Amino acid sequence: MKEIILCKYGEIILKGANRSRFESILLREVRRRASHIGKFDVRAAQSTLYITPLSDFEDMDEMFEQAKHVFGFVGVSRAAVAEKSMEDICRVAREYLPPYLAGAKRFRAEAKRSDKKFPLKSPEIGAEIGGVILSMRPDLKVDLDHPDVTVRVEIRDTAAYIHAGQDRGAGGVPLGSSGRGLLLLSGGIDSPVAGYMMARRGLALDALYFESIPYTSDRAREKVASLARIMTEYCGPIRMHVISLTKIQEAIRDNCEEDYFTLLLRRFMMRLSCRMAERCGASALITGESLGQVASQTMAALTVTEAAADRLIFRPCIGMDKEEIVRTARHIGTFETSILPYEDCCTVFTPRHPKTQPVLEKVIAQEEKLDYDTLLEEAWESRFSMVVSQFEG
Ligand code: ATP
Ligand code: MG
Repeated sequence: MKEIILCKYGEIILKGANRSRFESILLREVRRRASHIGKFDVRAAQSTLYITPLSDFEDMDEMFEQAKHVFGFVGVSRAAVAEKSMEDICRVAREYLPPYLAGAKRFRAEAKRSDKKFPLKSPEIGAEIGGVILSMRPDLKVDLDHPDVTVRVEIRDTAAYIHAGQDRGAGGVPLGSSGRGLLLLSGGIDSPVAGYMMARRGLALDALYFESIPYTSDRAREKVASLARIMTEYCGPIRMHVISLTKIQEAIRDNCEEDYFTLLLRRFMMRLSCRMAERCGASALITGESLGQVASQTMAALTVTEAAADRLIFRPCIGMDKEEIVRTARHIGTFETSILPYEDCCTVFTPRHPKTQPVLEKVIAQEEKLDYDTLLEEAWESRFSMVVSQFEG
């Protein structure tokens, strides 16, 4: 008996003419993941991607997990392959289903016949399979509303497939189908969530981390790289760029009014981020800002920060409560790493009374006390990059 993995497309079914582009991204993404696991054939047909192991020794559990992390699929299931005859379908069902029915009390059997030439109609196929299940397990009850297990037979072009339930896919649209974004990745809880949310809407990601050595440590940078690595499970390999803000922060400390420290720093971050975005082909910045969360995230502060940027900024967490952000962070697996206690450059020289209602002219007046362009240029020259990947080592 042969088992395969079926991945069902989500929203991209709706995309009409663009569909083949979306489909080829999905094929490439699944093939990339499969190549790290073993030998699999991956092909697309009828709004579904079929992943077929090329030997009996391929790691189907791992492949299944990987498929569930690919944006663009709403459902992923493991399925047994049968010939398109009722006789073979029943034979395979007898062999394949028992482990899935173990522990169940109620089940439902249904069928979907996309090949209308198949002699039985969907309800008839469902009824036959139900009969096969009851003959093996007379203790089970049919329950259409609250089954423990839903068995499904799909009659498709070249074969029939039998599965015992579908897991949720990662949803969203295929990675990269919306373009590229530059994620401002700190060690906090919010920015990995922001990156994940935008990747799920089709943005391929680069990440940028600002450090301030010796005020921030190598361990802090390693923590951010670990966060990026966790994100790669959904987002694919990520180029992570690092820029040092040490000299900028010292200059701000030595020359500017304390209440403005954070805002001034964030405007430097915006300028450097836009330059980095230009360089890596990212049409938007992504941040983890959430309205009202801290002094630098009031409307007035965000307005002043944004005025230093010359491109689109996505802030997908802007309307989320911390609790919702934490829930997503747990879902993607970044939460436990985010709460490790390492310093962030934003917490170096933090003002005691940060301006929550800043006025742009006054912020610019503070900036005029600095040798702005030289500081910007020096920080830019400090940059370096690394690639973070899920399948390392
Ligand atoms: P997070 O949990 O993401 O750190 P936060 O609530 O601590 O967010 P801030 O520290 O004010 O908020 O930062 C707001 C956003 O600015 C972050 O979500 C992130 O996108 C970006 N940011 C902050 N610090 C850095 C940094 N050191 N490097 C890169 N981006 C940063
Ligand atoms: Mg932070």
